[in-house]
Amino acid sequence: MADNTAARNELAEAAAIAGTIHDDAQLEAGEYWTKVMPKGAHLRIIDLEGQQGTDFLCYDAARPTENRYNAGNTIKFANNAYPKEGAQLFSDLAQPLMTIVRDTCGQIDTIAGCCSAEANEYRYGVKDTANCRANFTKCLESHGLAARDLVANVNFFSHFPVHADGAAAFEDGSSVAGDYVELRAETDVIAMISNCPQENNPCAGFAPTPIRVIVWTP
Ligand SMILES: [Zn+2]
Repeated sequence: MADNTAARNELAEAAAIAGTIHDDAQLEAGEYWTKVMPKGAHLRIIDLEGQQGTDFLCYDAARPTENRYNAGNTIKFANNAYPKEGAQLFSDLAQPLMTIVRDTCGQIDTIAGCCSAEANEYRYGVKDTANCRANFTKCLESHGLAARDLVANVNFFSHFPVHADGAAAFEDGSSVAGDYVELRAETDVIAMISNCPQENNPCAGFAPTPIRVIVWTP
């Protein structure tokens, strides 16, 4: 019971918001979410049960087809492949789109990208799986964009280590119930989340679970 109490306390702390809430949504496994966030707004993504990979993208709302989250710039400017608290998500045009103001888990992946039906068939021999690529495409279409605007994404609560010999694969994430990532918009952005439905590798602990998404202004 002690563990349950600790988890409840973490969840309560994660859900405590000091500011004006603009959106508060629970996403079941495999669901997606997108919203235009004004500069200065915060986005908190809470892992409600633990070990839930959450795929994320952001675009400059003023020119989304030319200024998008750029993994290479984000890695190079931080001199690190694994963004930490205080790191920024940079764009194609080397502008900070969002700042990671809090990360209670400490595992953010910039390398592995998202799952797709095609990749799942290639890797696991399973057809027509729910997937993050399809989710991101639906998010893009809701903003008048399309699959051609999809770029390599960032994954929260995701452990994708690259070893000394170059070996790389998803390994078990360490997030627990109540862990959260919080981002601040540094310009008006389109934010997109796919709550990963992957059941074939550890990126969602082989059993995808819900997340909670809160947008607010302090
Ligand atoms: Zn996925």
